[in-house]
Amino acid sequence: MDLSLSAAERAFALRVRDWLARNAERPEPGLSPDGAIAWARRWQAKLAGARMVAIAWPRSVGGRGASPVEVALYNMEYARAGAPQPVNRVGINLAGPTLLAHGTPGQQARWLPPILDAGEIWCQLFSEPGAGSDLASLHTRAEPAAGGWLVTGEKVWTSYAGFSKWGIALVRTGAGAGQSRHRGISCMVIDMEAPGVEIRPLRQITGEFEFNQVALDEVFVPEDQLVGRLHQGWAVAGTTLAHERGTAYPFKEQVAHEVYFDELAADPRTRAALGDPVAADQIVDAYVALGLLRLRNYRTLSRLGRGVEPGPDSSITKLVHSSMTRQLSDAALDVLGDDAPLWPAPDGDLAAGTWQRQWLWSKAASIAGGTDEIQRNIIAERLLGLPRG
Ligand SMILES: Cc1cc2nc3c(=O)[nH]c(=O)nc-3n(C[C@H](O)[C@H](O)[C@H](O)COP(=O)(O)OP(=O)(O)OC[C@H]3O[C@@H](n4cnc5c(N)ncnc54)[C@H](O)[C@@H]3O)c2cc1C
Repeated sequence: MDLSLSAAERAFALRVRDWLARNAERPEPGLSPDGAIAWARRWQAKLAGARMVAIAWPRSVGGRGASPVEVALYNMEYARAGAPQPVNRVGINLAGPTLLAHGTPGQQARWLPPILDAGEIWCQLFSEPGAGSDLASLHTRAEPAAGGWLVTGEKVWTSYAGFSKWGIALVRTGAGAGQSRHRGISCMVIDMEAPGVEIRPLRQITGEFEFNQVALDEVFVPEDQLVGRLHQGWAVAGTTLAHERGTAYPFKEQVAHEVYFDELAADPRTRAALGDPVAADQIVDAYVALGLLRLRNYRTLSRLGRGVEPGPDSSITKLVHSSMTRQLSDAALDVLGDDAPLWPAPDGDLAAGTWQRQWLWSKAASIAGGTDEIQRNIIAERLLGLPRG
C-alpha cells in the first residue's frame, strides 16, 4: 500500500483548503424553506464560478478533469471546512455523470450547464414502493404516445423532488419477466413540473422533509428525453448506481466524523464519562471504528492512485461507515445523556441538537445507496465467492 501523496496532489489539496477558507459561506439562521433553497442555489453558483463543483467532470463541460485521488482530497477538504454541501447533489454526482456517459451531445449541452450553477436541480426517480434493493422489479410504465411516451407509476424516497426541475427515472418500456426483468427498462428524464406529476413530501424522523413520494399519471416525456437506447436503461442505471456507491462519499464522511469526534472528545462530559468502564468502551469503540474507516479510505486512495477501481471492495467500506456512524452517534448521546439538546430545538436554533439529529440520520446510512444486507450479499458472492442465496 502506498500512502504518500504526490507534490502536485498536496498542492491541489492546499488550494482547495485555501479557497474554502476565503470563500465558504453559511446561511443566516431563520431562513424559510424557500429562502434556504434560494441561498443554497447562490452558494452553489459561487462554487461553480470557481470550478469548485463537479471537479471530476471534464474541463470542456465546466469541471476540472480531476483525478479520483484529487476528488477524494477535495471531498476531505470540503468536509473539514464544514462548508454547506451543494444543493444539486443528485445533478452533480448522479445525473451529470450518467449524462456524460450515455447522453447525446444535445442532451449534454442542454442539461449539464444548469446542473453546475444549480439553475436546474435534479432528483433520482429509481426506487418504488415495491422496488428498492430489487430495483429490476419496478412497475412504473412508459406507454408510446405521439412524439414520446406517457409515464404512469409511483416512485418513493425521492430526495429533493420538491424543488427539482428534472428527475432521472427508470421506467418499464418492454415486458421483461423472471431472470430477464432487467431487460425492457429504459432511462428517461422527467420534467418535475409537467402535468401529471404529484409530489407528496414524506416527513423523516429528523422532522425534515427531504424525501418525497412521487405519483406519475400519464406524464408526457418527449422522445429526446430518453437517455441511452430504448429498453437498455439497466446499463444506464449501472453508471448512476456506480457513482452513488462511488468513492467520494466515504472520504467526506470520514472527515465529517473526525470533526464530530473531536467535538465530542473536547466536551468535559466525555472526559468525565471516561471514568465509567462501559461508557469508556463505547467511546473507544467509536474511535476504533472511525480509524477503521480511515484505513479503508487509505486503501481505496492507494488503489485509485494506481488506477484500480474499488469495485465490490467498496461494499466493505460502506459497511464500516454505516456501523461507525451508528457507534459514534450512540456513544455521543449516551455521554451527553439528558443534557443533549433536543432536535429540532424548540426555539428553532439550528446549531442546537446537532448530536441528536446526527443520531437520527445515522440510521439512514444502513439503507441509502444499498442496504447493509445487500452489501453483505455482494461481499459474500463477489469477494468471497460464496454461492448465491
Ligand atoms: C437517505 C436516503 C436517500 C435516498 N434517496 C433516494 C433517491 O433520491 N431516489 C431513489 O430512487 N431512492 C432513494 N433512496 C432509496 C434507497 O435506494 C432504498 O431505500 C434502498 O435501495 C432499499 O430499498 P427499500 O427501501 O425498498 O428496501 P427493501 O429493498 O424493501 O429492503 C427491506 C429490507 O429487506 C432486506 N433485503 C432486501 N433484499 C434482500 C436480499 N436479497 N438479501 C438480504 N436482505 C434483503 C434489506 O436489506 C432491508 O433490510 C434513499 C434512501 C435513503 C435512506
